[in-house]
Amino acid sequence: MAGFAAVATTGAAAAPALAASPMKRPRGAGTTLVLLGTAGGPTLYGDRAGVSSAVVVGDAFYLVDLGHGALGRVAQAQLSTSTAPSARPLTGLAGVFLTHVHSDHLAEYASLVINGMWNGVNDPSRPVPVYGPGDRGGLPPVLGDRPEPPVIAPDAPTAGTVAMTARIIEGFAADLNERLRGSGGVDPGAAFAPHDIALPAGAAGPVDHAPMPRISPIPVHEDSRVRVTATLVEHSPVFPSFAFRFDTDEGSITFSGDTAPSENLIELAQGTDVLVHEVIDRQWAEARFPEPRTPAAEATLRHLIESHTTIEDVGGVATAAGAGTLVLNHLAPGDNADSRWRQAGKGFAGRLVVGHDLDEIAVGSKR
Ligand SMILES: [Zn+2]
Ligand SMILES: [Zn+2]
Repeated sequence: MAGFAAVATTGAAAAPALAASPMKRPRGAGTTLVLLGTAGGPTLYGDRAGVSSAVVVGDAFYLVDLGHGALGRVAQAQLSTSTAPSARPLTGLAGVFLTHVHSDHLAEYASLVINGMWNGVNDPSRPVPVYGPGDRGGLPPVLGDRPEPPVIAPDAPTAGTVAMTARIIEGFAADLNERLRGSGGVDPGAAFAPHDIALPAGAAGPVDHAPMPRISPIPVHEDSRVRVTATLVEHSPVFPSFAFRFDTDEGSITFSGDTAPSENLIELAQGTDVLVHEVIDRQWAEARFPEPRTPAAEATLRHLIESHTTIEDVGGVATAAGAGTLVLNHLAPGDNADSRWRQAGKGFAGRLVVGHDLDEIAVGSKR
């Protein structure tokens, strides 16, 4: 929760704010990172929604991932600055960026597409762009000695952003047709403009083994407020998995997405003001799979650790990137004590923020 620093303050002689406490800035001024959800994985926690963040630039905002509970946090955070009578919580949404096709990053994307028209995304003349992975191009291998499982949706088992969006809309056709006829809503297929991010030649998938192809940052989106670039990160067997960097007039914010320590990410994030990086507690992961382990359990544990970044490693990534502030999010598990996560600071001399839902972090000094 955003107020943990205040909880640590006791007595009349209030302690100074923790160095890691996020700063607040009025809406409509400069560039601000807002953490909407900070839990890693599909497990539900009371205090942390699924992973999701907002980059607020002036009167517009951009969403990065939409885990479970993210849209409730959008409303709580009051990201929209519009004072128009018709304004809704999503008025001002200027772009959506999806790092990869894991449900803990996507579950509420379906809700955004279906409910967006009632909450401010309702202008087919200016559809909200959505950028995310393309089709994987083939199923990943079965881990360990498990039997071959059934294939879900064999006609499109690895759909990317464009196809997934179309299928979400199709799946809700009964609702959408009723509402469009009864209430005059807007076709979400016209209110959103999904894009599959194109990969550079030689980096197309499927890629079933780390490391990812080494690539330079690729341009994704540019408008009057932001320039967004991306790179491939180490989240095998999910492919492609992206990190995103936002550059604005005030500074930069880089999102790791889900990844093991990644050379591509370190290049993308060079000199970034704020690095928002995922983190996993290796001790927790090992305890989930107690010994003796079956070959399947051993393979799953190895996958879990090798496709994420441990507390011991994340500070070194931020140091290599030259980041000013390291914000830990996608915390796995979502119910560790902050003191455990702060051990990530051992490898990093900059400012460390253990992310909590609804934290706000101002970027840069210009207004
Ligand atoms: Zn995840
Ligand atoms: Zn993932």
